[in-house]
Amino acid sequence: MKVIIIGGGPAGCAAAYTVQKANHEAILFEASDTIGGRTKQLHREGFNLGTGALFLMGGIYPRTMALLREMGHIKKLVPWKGASELMDEDNSRYPVRLDKIFSFAKVPTLRSIDRLRLLATGIRLFFSPGAKNPFNGSQLATFDRGENLEDWSRKHLGARNYEYVMRPIMDFLYAVPLRQLSTPFPKALIKQAHKISLSTPPQGIGQISDWLVEHMPSENVHVSAPVERIARDGDCWQVFANGRSFSGDAVVIATEAFVAAGLLQEFISPDAHQRLMDTPYTEYAHVAVAYEEDPWPDYPVDIVLPVGVDGERDVGAMVLHGRRSPTSVPEGAQLVGVYFNTPPLADMSDDDIKNQAVKQVNKAFGQAPPPQFVHLFRYEKGLTIAKPGHYQSLDKVHDLLPPHIRLAGDYFSQAGVEAAIYSGERAANDILKSHAP
Ligand SMILES: Cc1cc2nc3c(=O)[nH]c(=O)nc-3n(C[C@H](O)[C@H](O)[C@H](O)COP(=O)(O)OP(=O)(O)OC[C@H]3O[C@@H](n4cnc5c(N)ncnc54)[C@H](O)[C@@H]3O)c2cc1C
Repeated sequence: MKVIIIGGGPAGCAAAYTVQKANHEAILFEASDTIGGRTKQLHREGFNLGTGALFLMGGIYPRTMALLREMGHIKKLVPWKGASELMDEDNSRYPVRLDKIFSFAKVPTLRSIDRLRLLATGIRLFFSPGAKNPFNGSQLATFDRGENLEDWSRKHLGARNYEYVMRPIMDFLYAVPLRQLSTPFPKALIKQAHKISLSTPPQGIGQISDWLVEHMPSENVHVSAPVERIARDGDCWQVFANGRSFSGDAVVIATEAFVAAGLLQEFISPDAHQRLMDTPYTEYAHVAVAYEEDPWPDYPVDIVLPVGVDGERDVGAMVLHGRRSPTSVPEGAQLVGVYFNTPPLADMSDDDIKNQAVKQVNKAFGQAPPPQFVHLFRYEKGLTIAKPGHYQSLDKVHDLLPPHIRLAGDYFSQAGVEAAIYSGERAANDILKSHAP
């Protein structure tokens, strides 16, 4: 069987890998000039900048880890402790660890009653039903009660735990106000918090997509090949890219949801089309601030998370990448990632964002000489987010697709490489099953 895969992010690459593993032919089309999607790497002045994703989460990313093990690459992962500190409004610092989220309970601004509430809610969550896999949209859909994460956190954890525990963690992961997020994903994450360990491939997260397609014949990987249209061709499907048409028995569309909606418009119901179009993507910006000489070689933590600001804050997290991924910087250099929250971006120019990033870096880690360069990654549509009702709405789309077409992408759950890989494997396996004799 010949399966065409549209989109070369982790979802599409996982689909291609799965098809190829089953001894069928996979043909991949990627619009940009390299694969990797929002995980791809960009090289500038000797620095390896991640355009998007930063880390894997160990036991919480079971399919990603299983594929890395299967491909023989798992031992190459570089572990990262994610040692962090909360930076309060008055510049007080509180050490925490992102791979040990219960370390947040030690933050000194929390009172005994707050810690008790954290413990009680943690225990209650642990024993209550919830999604076993935080990246399986179908499972998440079952536990979506329409509640948003801010209301849930304030009600069950209280205002201080909301500000000093839930908000910094979610600011770091999603950079949108918690009232825009539904609850099943973070609840599933908390239930499995003991499985979290952070790591990154030596060349950055984008390397995962490279590994997934490394054994595909090069003529089957088409980059700089945006698919403009798909059409039925008897029992087969045709895709059109760069003025040529290609025929396949089945198609996996692993692009962003709105691109999939456009490609499928004439083959799906208005309802299914609308569900895909309604998938929210938030504006996103992060800034890479590069220093040829590390201004803070002895700084004790990897990440600074601002807390304690009433209302929206500009920046959700600042990360010393040289610690996370030593090979991403030239010897003795340092690279800081400054991750902005979505709401303030609407009123900020590119220069505002870059200036604010450098200012925040100096505040977080200490005054430094001017950086070697400041590189802004600004996405009009950066991260998918799961609002209350999101998973149910999208889960239904799987049943509304034409024959031999499947969709993959992180948007079926709550973003993340695991969500993408899980969905890519699922789409490919559905197709392989439907063609089995
Ligand atoms: C700043 C940032 C930080 C992040 N941090 C993390 C993290 O630390 N850990 C983590 O797990 N996740 C993280 N993520 C999320 C992660 O990057 C995404 O969940 C993941 O990349 C989604 O993979 P995907 O394959 O579904 O989509 P994408 O990566 O978006 O890939 C889709 C691909 O489809 C291609 N495409 C679009 N249209 C067409 C077309 N017509 N024809 C052909 N190709 C097309 C696109 O060019 C793209 O390459 C982060 C994301 C961002 C933006």
